[in-house]
Amino acid sequence: MPWNDEFECMPLEEMQKFQLAKLKETVNWVMERVPFYRKKMEEAGVKADDLKSVADIRKLPFTVKNDLRDNYPFGLCAVPMNEVVRIHCSSGTTGKPITGPYTADDIDQWAECMARDLWAAGLRKGDIVQNAYGMGLFTGGLGFHQGATKIGCAVVPTSSGMTERQIMLMRDFGATALFSTPSYALTIAERAEEMGMPVKDMPLRVGCFGAEPWSEAMRDEIERKMGIMAMNTYGLTELGGPGMAFECEARNGLHINEDHFLVEIIDPVTFEPVSDGQRGEMVLTAIQRRAMPLIRFRTKDITTLTRERCSCGRTLVRMDRITGRTDDMLIINGVNVFPSQVESLLSEFNDEIVLQYLLVVRKKKHLDELIIRVEGKKEVFEAGPGKVTHVEKKITEHIKGVAGVGVTVELVEPKGLVRSEGKALRVVDERPK
Ligand code: AMP
Ligand code: ZN
Repeated sequence: MPWNDEFECMPLEEMQKFQLAKLKETVNWVMERVPFYRKKMEEAGVKADDLKSVADIRKLPFTVKNDLRDNYPFGLCAVPMNEVVRIHCSSGTTGKPITGPYTADDIDQWAECMARDLWAAGLRKGDIVQNAYGMGLFTGGLGFHQGATKIGCAVVPTSSGMTERQIMLMRDFGATALFSTPSYALTIAERAEEMGMPVKDMPLRVGCFGAEPWSEAMRDEIERKMGIMAMNTYGLTELGGPGMAFECEARNGLHINEDHFLVEIIDPVTFEPVSDGQRGEMVLTAIQRRAMPLIRFRTKDITTLTRERCSCGRTLVRMDRITGRTDDMLIINGVNVFPSQVESLLSEFNDEIVLQYLLVVRKKKHLDELIIRVEGKKEVFEAGPGKVTHVEKKITEHIKGVAGVGVTVELVEPKGLVRSEGKALRVVDERPK
């Protein structure tokens, strides 16, 4: 049974009726309160009454990240500050952060979305959850905290970092669930093995991971190392944080909380909608939030949608795991390369490497050069330099063959790459801008 079967199992027609009403309400809300939206809507010559079906959302203008930067900090906020009860910020490292204000009701909605998410992952009252997402401005920590609290779990808000203490508490408290970025989960798993207290031997049963891209191969590795089920969760600061979409037990895509978020997939070049099953950029509209409901926000995240029936009984549309971002895409001598694609190619060499890698892009004379630093296993290094070169060559040839781009693979000694405690750094682009 889902957490909220009324909305999670609502027939499509009914859902679309609900969405249309909420969409119109939201368009009126922002047009009356946010000069930025009033101007945009007037320029586009559109108002709420022009929306006759959810498909008419295409008449509305897009919102992009730069609009949030240009209106920093509260230019897009639709309520007076005395109605704001929380302000989060994005984890971005360049320029001004993205601000996310919430009303009390927005916070409740968020907790509801997160409760659906964690319930679908199998969490129940009685679970002891270690929340190792960064606690603070980042939406991850408090987002998961609220959802688990709503279900009635015992939450241990460790936040990220201090990995050894993290592992000690996990064992001593008998945590049954872990929340963190997938890369930090691997860091914890590795460190726990080194400390002689493998997570596999602990009661931990499930992990709810997200906030950064990860592959099926990485899921396998986490599940193998920790002896748990690793579930995927998606969200972003601009739309209020995690809990936008979540996996159910079928683990065949992430259900989108579409009574809260209207989703579209567009061709990022023509802006035309693509059909279900086709890859494109995800565009999201928050139809129930009140402090900062964004209209047609271009996420830059690439995925596909499906409305095929899910075996879990939920009718909520499903998105595929994020396979890349339009802005993460590296163009190496004219060839498009996604870090996620490199990750899955690397994962085919699990016997010789561990899935810790860094992509470095440089200019060599006039050409781009992609260097893939990946950690080799201890046994490879123990077998001598000949073996190391052999493995490097083998992986290089494989990636060249499949991705159609020249790369140089450099094996790094075990533990040679910096471990993540939050979102992993996977790409360093050293090309002059
Ligand atoms: P932030 O606003 O800092 O939380 O970052 C949000 C971004 O993180 C999204 O737009 C995605 O690019 C990425 N992200 C979040 N969750 C996931 C996930 N489960 N899989 C892949 N990428 C994710
Ligand atoms: Zn399902």
